[in-house]
Parts: sequence; C-alpha cells; structure tokens
Amino acid sequence: MEADRLREDVDKFCRELRPIEDLAYLERKHNDMLIPLAKKYNLLGMIVSRDYGGRDADNITYIKALERIGMEGSGIRSFFSVHTSLAQRLLMRYGSEEQKERYLKPSARGDKIFAFALTEPDAGSNPLEMKTTYHSVEDVDGHYYLLNGTKYLITNATIADAIIVFAKDSSNSMRMSAFIVDADREGIEREPLVAKMGTPTTDTGMFELKDYKVPRGNLIGKEGEGWKIAKEALIDGRLSVAAGCVGSIKDCLIEAVRYAKERVQYGKPIGKHQLVQEHIAMIELDYKAARSMVRHALLMKERWDREPGDEVKKRAADLAVAEAKLFAVNAAYDAADRALQIYGGRGWSYLYRPARHLVDNRVCRIYEGTDEILKLKIASSLLGKDYRAYG
Ligand SMILES: Cc1cc2nc3c(=O)[nH]c(=O)nc-3n(C[C@H](O)[C@H](O)[C@H](O)COP(=O)(O)OP(=O)(O)OC[C@H]3O[C@@H](n4cnc5c(N)ncnc54)[C@H](O)[C@@H]3O)c2cc1C
Repeated sequence: MEADRLREDVDKFCRELRPIEDLAYLERKHNDMLIPLAKKYNLLGMIVSRDYGGRDADNITYIKALERIGMEGSGIRSFFSVHTSLAQRLLMRYGSEEQKERYLKPSARGDKIFAFALTEPDAGSNPLEMKTTYHSVEDVDGHYYLLNGTKYLITNATIADAIIVFAKDSSNSMRMSAFIVDADREGIEREPLVAKMGTPTTDTGMFELKDYKVPRGNLIGKEGEGWKIAKEALIDGRLSVAAGCVGSIKDCLIEAVRYAKERVQYGKPIGKHQLVQEHIAMIELDYKAARSMVRHALLMKERWDREPGDEVKKRAADLAVAEAKLFAVNAAYDAADRALQIYGGRGWSYLYRPARHLVDNRVCRIYEGTDEILKLKIASSLLGKDYRAYG
C-alpha cells in the first residue's frame, strides 16, 4: 500500500539523514544533504495530488510522517512544515491551474523549494502591522505588481526557489494579498540569520524586496484575500509543528529509557531510582497526551477540509489546532528538559540528543503563534469575541 511505502521511505530518509545531521549540528553547518535525501526518497510532494506528481498522502499518513521526521529535530521538521504544510497546501487550495503547473509540480519533485514569508521586523505576532506593499503597474513590460519591503525570520529564506510573500496594497492598507516570488529574479536580496540559538542545520533568513516585479499570474487567489489565505495556511502549519513535537517527545522518551538502563550510579542503573522513573513517566504522559491532541485536531481539520466554506467547522479546526500546538510545543520542551536531566552532566552537551531537542523545541513556542497569542486565541474563543484580547 502507498501509505506503507511512504512510511518506509520516511523512515529510511530519517535513518540515512541522522549521521549527517549529527555531524552538521556539531559543526553548526547547514545540512546540505537534507534536500538531496528528501528527493531520493520522494518526500517533497508527500501531500501533493498525483495529478501534479505528488504522492497524495492522506492526512493521517502525513501526520505520522511529520511525527517521524520530528524525531530528527524541529529544524528538519520545520523545513517540511514550510515547504509542504504551508506552501504546497496553500497552493493546492488557492493556486491557479498555471501556478500548480509552474510551481506545485516541480516542488513535488523537489526541483522547487518553498518559503512562506509573513513576518517582518515590525510585524510578528500581529502580521496586520506589516509594511511590505504592492501596487499594480501597467507599462511596456505588461501588467505586473511592484513589491517593496523586508521579510524577517523566514524559514528556508535563502535556499527557497519560490517564496509565498504577503504584502499590503499601497493605496489601501486594509487589503493584503499573497504572491509567488521567484527567488532568482532581480529585486530580491537575501541573507541568512546568523548566531541562531538552535536549528543550525536548517535555514532561517531574511530578504528585502526593492521594486520587485511580480507577474500578474503570480497573485494567489484574489486581490485582498491574503489575510484569509495566511490564516488558513497557519492552521496547517501549526498542526505540522504540533505533530513534529510529538515525534520529538518520542525521541526524548527513547533516549531517556535507554540511558536510564545504561547509566549506573549507587550500584544500580539510574532507571531503578524512583525520581528518575518519575521523569520517564512524565515524558510518556506528555507523549500520549500530545499525540491524542494532535489526532483530535486532525479530525477537526478533516471535517473542515470536507466543507471548506463552513465557518463553524473552520473555527473548530482553528481552535483544536491552536490547543494541540500550544500543548505539544510545551510538552516537547519539558520532555527534552527531563531527558536532559536523566543524562546528567552529559546532557548538557550537543553530542547527545536531549540538548538539541531542548534548544530546537524552544523556538516552536515562538513561531506559528507564540504561546501567549495561542492562549489568548483559546481563551477568547471560549469567552466570546467581545473578550478578544489581541488584534
Ligand atoms: C526560527 C524561526 C523561524 C521562523 N520562520 C518563519 C517563517 O517561515 N515565516 C514567517 O512568516 N515567520 C517565521 N518566523 C517568525 C515567527 O512567526 C515570529 O517570530 C512570531 O510570530 C513572533 O513574532 P515576533 O518575533 O516579532 O515577536 P513579537 O510579536 O514582537 O512578540 C514578542 C513577545 O510579545 C508577546 N506578545 C505580542 N503581542 C502580544 C499580545 N497581544 N498579548 C500578549 N503577548 C503578546 C509575544 O507572545 C512574545 O512573547 C520564524 C521565527 C523563528 C524564530
């Protein structure tokens, strides 16, 4: 069955990637084998339909793939989150036939890598404060949009071939639109983010658009639909972060159990000391609880997917995904901390997996909705919109 084949391919990819990732992490270098190996195992179009060269994975197969990839670290998973959950899903939902042929198809083969650019230096938690603008131009070169602005803290920014960019109409700041920006054209300058705390093997960067010309055909959806498109994409993105964190917790559990059996202190394996057992029990609870919340959120999202125009189902999916993400990212951070504690002094080294999970999971509490914003979102959905404390 294709779902089994995909699961096997994801597992083989992760196994082959791990020793390369271990080395790249210690050297704090970009893992240049990530894309070639993902291509080798045909993982860059997991959810894209067969018509566009993808593997058409069903939702649960994809979530399990993200859980497995999450075991290799949040940096690796976030590469997939952006390429697949945010950009490809968004294009499948809103892309024109021409955009699907020109961008989605090559992306499914891994010949085009995506980034998704909403955040700016002055617009993070509140993307509506963005300053990047577009305006429509018609001249001898034809009909196009001119984009100006800076996007900041963008995953895959310097390795992407095509970037989904959100910008506001220069003559109407209430109107946001989404565009596909080719990274190899004139008018874009990119640079990597330096001195990152974690995820050193995957790319985070920024770019500036100066009179960048976007062909008219690269507008996604309709003009003014940008904010709706971004918010819907973030539901998929958040779910992918939560699923990756489930995998990270599982890896912490495996590491904690193995080390607790190996390491001997006071004449017995430390796993026989009750306080060490408490850590293991709590990681297991976090794993099961986070996984259940992700599966529940997936169910709610599938209900909305079946009726995309149903606002009630969309709100239910949005809430369930926000809850799953908030819980899973914190559970993953705590699980890494407990696994590190079991490792004792060795745990404080990046030679071992818990330290890497700890720093790499930390950023999951910031992107795709900070802890604070998700708490406000959950509370206001219970209290009613008059109690909305943000935005
Ligand atoms: C490694 C990494 C990768 C990223 N990848 C991408 C990407 O691919 N694409 C993209 O578009 N963005 C990306 N981001 C950006 C990320 O989404 C933002 O960092 C995030 O939304 C927070 O924005 P900010 O950093 O500007 O923080 P701010 O919005 O300035 O927030 C600072 C603090 O204030 C709190 N705060 C703000 N407003 C409120 C409020 N109303 N009530 C309570 N607390 C509040 C926040 O929760 C936070 O704790 C990435 C970030 C990182 C670190």
